[in-house]
Amino acid sequence: MGDLSEHWSNKEFACRCPECKGEYKVHLGLIGALEMIGGHFRKKIKLLSAFWCDAYYEKLNRSGRRSFHTMGKAVHIAVDGVSSQELFKFCETVPELRGIIFYPKENFIHIDTRPGEPVRLVKEGNDYLPLTAEKRAKYGL
Ligand SMILES: [Zn+2]
Ligand SMILES: [Zn+2]
Repeated sequence: MGDLSEHWSNKEFACRCPECKGEYKVHLGLIGALEMIGGHFRKKIKLLSAFWCDAYYEKLNRSGRRSFHTMGKAVHIAVDGVSSQELFKFCETVPELRGIIFYPKENFIHIDTRPGEPVRLVKEGNDYLPLTAEKRAKYGL
């Protein structure tokens, strides 16, 4: 039992940079979504990245891109024995997850609980491109 939900604790969402020593912020909508994903696959989800503190975000130097990681609304996830494609497709059925980004090279996906219209992107090189029908076909999504 975690301190946030059955499977999750605050400390798991902490920034992993050396500077802030575990600063964290986590949006509760994200916890609900993670419980749904874990329940579906019946496995513990691997959190590869969660909250990013300001110092870490600056270091990443993403040229002004707004990041939901700095708001505690985004995580990078993978599940052992589950392909990123399968994981991506399931996440699309979770209404809280408005933003989903496919990382074909890194083999994880980004999910977030941003407000507004759903956003689907794929990371190619340094770019985040809209996940068009063509790209879906290319990546098996
Ligand atoms: Zn940090
Ligand atoms: Zn991300």
